[in-house]
Amino acid sequence: MTTAIAPRSRKVRVLATLGPASNTPEMIATLFQAGADAFRINMSHGDQQSKVAVIQAIRGLEKQFQRPTTILADLQGPKLRVGKFEGGRTVLESGSTFVLDRDETPGDATRVELPHKEIFAAIEPGARLLLDDGKLVLRVTDHGPERIETMVEVGGALSNNKGLNVPDVVLPMAALTEKDRSDLAFAVEQGVDWIALSFVQRPEDLAEARKLIGGKAALLAKIEKPAAIDRLEEIVEMCDGVMVARGDLGVELPPQTVPPLQKRIVETSRRLGRPVVVATQMLESMIQSPSPTRAEVSDVATAIYDGADAIMLSAESAAGAWPVESVAMMNAIGISVEGDPMHGDRIHFTVTRPDPTTADALSEAAKQIARTVSATAIICFTTSGSTARRIARERPSVPLLVLTPSKDTARRLGLLWGTHAVHTRDVESFEDMVGKAKRMALRTGIAHAGDRVIVMAGVPFRTPGSTNVLHVVHITGDELRDYV
Ligand code: PGA
Ligand code: MN
Repeated sequence: MTTAIAPRSRKVRVLATLGPASNTPEMIATLFQAGADAFRINMSHGDQQSKVAVIQAIRGLEKQFQRPTTILADLQGPKLRVGKFEGGRTVLESGSTFVLDRDETPGDATRVELPHKEIFAAIEPGARLLLDDGKLVLRVTDHGPERIETMVEVGGALSNNKGLNVPDVVLPMAALTEKDRSDLAFAVEQGVDWIALSFVQRPEDLAEARKLIGGKAALLAKIEKPAAIDRLEEIVEMCDGVMVARGDLGVELPPQTVPPLQKRIVETSRRLGRPVVVATQMLESMIQSPSPTRAEVSDVATAIYDGADAIMLSAESAAGAWPVESVAMMNAIGISVEGDPMHGDRIHFTVTRPDPTTADALSEAAKQIARTVSATAIICFTTSGSTARRIARERPSVPLLVLTPSKDTARRLGLLWGTHAVHTRDVESFEDMVGKAKRMALRTGIAHAGDRVIVMAGVPFRTPGSTNVLHVVHITGDELRDYV
């Protein structure tokens, strides 16, 4: 049965991570109806084969609900881990000496294996090694090709294969591990829309991933390393989308530095017209509880007021007890914040000056005309999606309806602020364009009889990158008569 759901009135997008709590087709459909606009598949967990059915279930929604779906495959990246311990665990005493070495023998309170040889050459005396999400802190006192000697600054319990962060040095590590390369090839073969790269340190990391993806998916850079902050602008320019990955970022840097960085990453991404996702611990307490803390609600609201394109759920929807409630909560916060009469002013605190291009000039004009004539929507014809991204970058007060002959483009636009994409046949003429825009506006319920809408396209038709027409159209309501 098909039950087309109306375009969301909410502009911020909700990206929900899938996992054991939400992997079934029924749950995926329920999350979609509750407000999930896009789904994240975390390649850090489970094998590739287990993802095939999940991807099929997401794509199955397209028939059921008559709208494109958006899938982001998140590569684990060079996540560092220590080796194993005798008996599975140990306790490090503050003030003691602890050694990381190349010996696979199970470790104890004095030493453990570190199975990443790159660190031994790059590490410097005085650098910190953070263990288990920063709970334990080691300070390097001496190092050689086979051994790193440290002083335990903050001790505690440590068990097998716990994560390790090295914030103080740029590691000469490939951004893509063997596992990432295999997962990337799998994700491309499965036709996912976005691939996220973890622990990006340099723009070159993205260039390598881009080459392997070969244009078959869009590329999202996760900002979670201090080195990436140092070259933020270049990195944002090199990718198609950005994630403020606050989990690892808040381990590598003091947590109090994350809020100003969130503002800066969102601002930079918006200015450069790249969709930006704010992620991690957004409704953390909802992993166990059906209602969030007030502070979490406020944090989600802050990301929306910052003008982020999307807000993300991690374990809340992947492994928690209340995945549907978590999505519904994000949906409700989005509606509430966007209903604030000050919302528009607050997001325009970030200034996004147009580039000197025709597309930007028309996008800026469309936003202003929509306000002046009280239009109900901006409708844009695009093949690559680039015009849609420039219009969304303006953060207009009305919804953006994107009509595209490319199914891939329609799917990729699922992370873009305020955008509803429809995959449809290309138009041949100006009359065809106007007619189609009116019909689609009525059919999707984005506009009604008596409304005015703004149509943007490129003439001659079928020529990518030619956006040069802005047309204000009056809808009478008769447009659907000959099209039953
Ligand atoms: P992760 O990335 O959940 O894959 O670690 C997000 C983050 O670090 O915030
Ligand atoms: Mn991370």
